[in-house]
Amino acid sequence: MNKRWTIDKIREFTEKNSDSKLLSTEYHGFSQKLLFKCSCGNNFEKTFTKFNKSNQRKCDTCQPPKAPRGEA
Ligand SMILES: [Zn+2]
Repeated sequence: MNKRWTIDKIREFTEKNSDSKLLSTEYHGFSQKLLFKCSCGNNFEKTFTKFNKSNQRKCDTCQPPKAPRGEA
């Protein structure tokens, strides 16, 4: 089942499921990067797919991308 996301639904989802806020005001599809504001104050861009499905709901500072193997 494909949910049809709108910018309003995404904003609601963001507020309910994360500490971040949605700054983008338009949604054109799953491949579009949306602008979010992290609870730490940083802005970050992510596709909604990543935000939703991959649980990437914070900025790269609060939730760094996967570190290369072997690094502490
Ligand atoms: Zn942050």
